Parts: sequence; C-alpha cells; structure tokens
Amino acid sequence: MPKNSPFDGVQWVWMNGRRVPFQDATVHVCSHALHYGSGAFEGIRCYKTETGSAVFRLREHLERLAKSSKIYRMDVPYDLPELTDAVLETIQANDLRACYIRPIVYRGFGTLGVNPMRSPVDVSIIVWPWGAYLGDGALEDGVDACVSSWRRAAPSTLPTLAKATGNYLSSQLIKMEALTNGYVEGIALDANGLVSEGSGENLFAVQDGRLVTPPLAAAVLPGITRESVMTLARDLGIEVLTGALPREMLYTCDELFFTGTAAEITPIRSVDRIPVGEGRPGPITRRLSDELLGIMKGRIEDRHGWLTPVPVPVPA
Ligand code: PMP
Repeated sequence: MPKNSPFDGVQWVWMNGRRVPFQDATVHVCSHALHYGSGAFEGIRCYKTETGSAVFRLREHLERLAKSSKIYRMDVPYDLPELTDAVLETIQANDLRACYIRPIVYRGFGTLGVNPMRSPVDVSIIVWPWGAYLGDGALEDGVDACVSSWRRAAPSTLPTLAKATGNYLSSQLIKMEALTNGYVEGIALDANGLVSEGSGENLFAVQDGRLVTPPLAAAVLPGITRESVMTLARDLGIEVLTGALPREMLYTCDELFFTGTAAEITPIRSVDRIPVGEGRPGPITRRLSDELLGIMKGRIEDRHGWLTPVPVPVPA
C-alpha cells in the first residue's frame, strides 16, 4: 500500500457476509472478474452531518447495483435490507464519520472459460475516507476539461445502464488521455458524436437559465446525483431539459458542470481551453451545489428523505 494512503485507517472489509481484516480481504488470481471484467459496483458517500453520519441515497444506489447485476445475470445472494445493514455495519466497524462506500458484486473463482455462469457471485463492501475527487479546489474554482477522442460504447454493445466494472476500461482511456494532455477530466461523445458524459461523472449545461443534460440514450450512466440535481433544480424553479447536446454547445453554453457521487457538483471552467461563460463557476451551478451539499451535510432539511442515518453503536 502506498504511504499516506486513504486506506491507512481502514480495518475491516465486508466479504460475503463476514467481517474480514483489511489486509486479508483478497481474491484469487483465477477470479473470473479479474480476467473478463465481470462485476458490478456502486460508489456511495456517507457524510458527517450535525446530527451524526448519514449515507446519501443508499436505497437508490443498492437498487442500481441490483439492476446492474440483473443485466449480467448475476444472482446477488443478499437482498436490499441485508445489503443496507451490511453497509451501515461496515461504516460503524471502521469508526468512520464521513467516507466513500464501494459495494461490489463480482464473479469469483470457478472456471476460466468466458461463460461466467460457472463462477460464483461474490459480494464485498469496502469503505474509506475520500476527499474531492477532481482535486483540491475543484469544487470551488472548477476544472479544465477536454473532449475525448474516445467515444462511449454504441447501443447494444456494452450496456451503459449497468455500472459494470468492465465499462471502466472506456473511462480509463478517457481519463488517461485527458491527464496526459494536461486536463483534469475528459468528456466523451456517444457513438453518434453527441455529448455523453465524463469518465466518471454526468454532465449538465446551463443555457439561458435552463438546465440541459444528455438523455440515457446518449450512453450515460443513470447517475443518482444527476437525478438528485434534476429534482433540486425543479424545486428551485429551474427548468430542466433532457436532450441531445451537440459538442459545440460545450463551448457556447453559459455554465457547465459535472455531477457524481465522487465529484459531487464540480464546475467546468473550460473545455478544450475555451472558457465556459466567464471561465469561472456560474450562479446556477453554485446555487445547485449549495442546495445539494446543504442537504447532504444536514444543513438544509432532507425534504426528499435522501439520508439514511448510520446508527451510533450501543456500548456493550
Ligand atoms: N457516469 C459514470 C461513468 C460514473 O462512473 C458515475 C459515478 N458513479 C456517474 C456517471 C455519476 O453517477 P452517480 O451520480 O450515481 O455517482
């Protein structure tokens, strides 16, 4: 493990119903998932609020995990209440107040033919502290992005409604190209050349006071932050449109931002070195970010019931 790793203080990993010490939480080299990308996962955040720790939209994340698994014919051996308890217990066991949560359903060690159905479906849950995903200052100042030369998968190739491990090969190509060329993040186009999403985030543009985001048919992950932002925008009286975004709109729109569990709401200040609007986070981006983070951190009433409190362990 690298020095000063965010995993330093992590003691326990949940594996197939058991609490396993972090250093022992390993899988076999013959695991099907390692060879063929056969897994589905989630990224969830737990926030420290004024009244204790709480997980943001836990149910929706676990439901998406169930759907991703269903697409790949993986029968998850735990139901939603069991996985909910497992997530909360793992946070408690590691004594973390705020953390990132990574449940993963994957094909373990069975056989090494491509047919996945002869390999068992294993489940693990990892938690660790994780700060601003796109770097220090990203949330306040915005990031510089580029349009990637890598396209997202075409319809009926790799299903993008599934948050499948193998899909992240596409994300890695987008991310490495962006970093190598001096950008923080890449924005991918879909197979038709229309805007899709970032390597690990959905994307919103603001045009004439309205919010526009690509539809699910543009090879985007159905982001839970995306849906939360659409709901909050409507609450605030901001019109939200789901529609095709031509690439050039990235250069001409008034504001642009990424959304994601890791990235939260990260403003985009330039695309391909062309400033977005004034080249700094705009008022609608800020308004939505204040509202979302306010709810996540318990400063604004949780009017949609999005937070699941982490129970405080009762001393034995
Ligand atoms: N798109 C991709 C490719 C992602 O990996 C993520 C992060 N899960 C998102 C969008 C945002 O989804 P969410 O808001 O549910 O985290």
